[in-house]
Amino acid sequence: MVSAMKGTGKCLCGAVSYSAETSTEVSACHCGMCRRWTGGPLLGISAKEVDWSGEDKIRTYTSSPWAERGFCSECGTGLFYRITAPGPAQGSLSLLFGTLEDQAGFELVQEWFIDKKPDTYTLAGERKTLTEAEVMAMFGGSD
Ligand SMILES: [Zn+2]
Ligand SMILES: [Zn+2]
Repeated sequence: MVSAMKGTGKCLCGAVSYSAETSTEVSACHCGMCRRWTGGPLLGISAKEVDWSGEDKIRTYTSSPWAERGFCSECGTGLFYRITAPGPAQGSLSLLFGTLEDQAGFELVQEWFIDKKPDTYTLAGERKTLTEAEVMAMFGGSD
């Protein structure tokens, strides 16, 4: 079972903030889109019942046919990644770990697109990793 905790967070300028129920498990993504968007690996935590404040400042960017990325229109801080493709995962949202106020008590459990990670950095420790081919196979292999 994945345990959950209550968390609060905000963007750099504070125009957007949230409280949410989040997983304690952090996932890293090394795909080219995430690296370009964040400047490094994307660290995300799945969240539900996200209660936004300043929601009118949130803009979304449709980064692929299956997902969108939300950010603060005032300061540009990335806030979330959300699955938009129809199916059981539609609407699933991951908050960007760095936006959380309290980042204690979480565990980095998996790394996506490990074969796309530049040699420049490596996250310490051992955990489950997935290559691009493995990720594509998991989502039906199309697109
Ligand atoms: Zn902001
Ligand atoms: Zn990614």
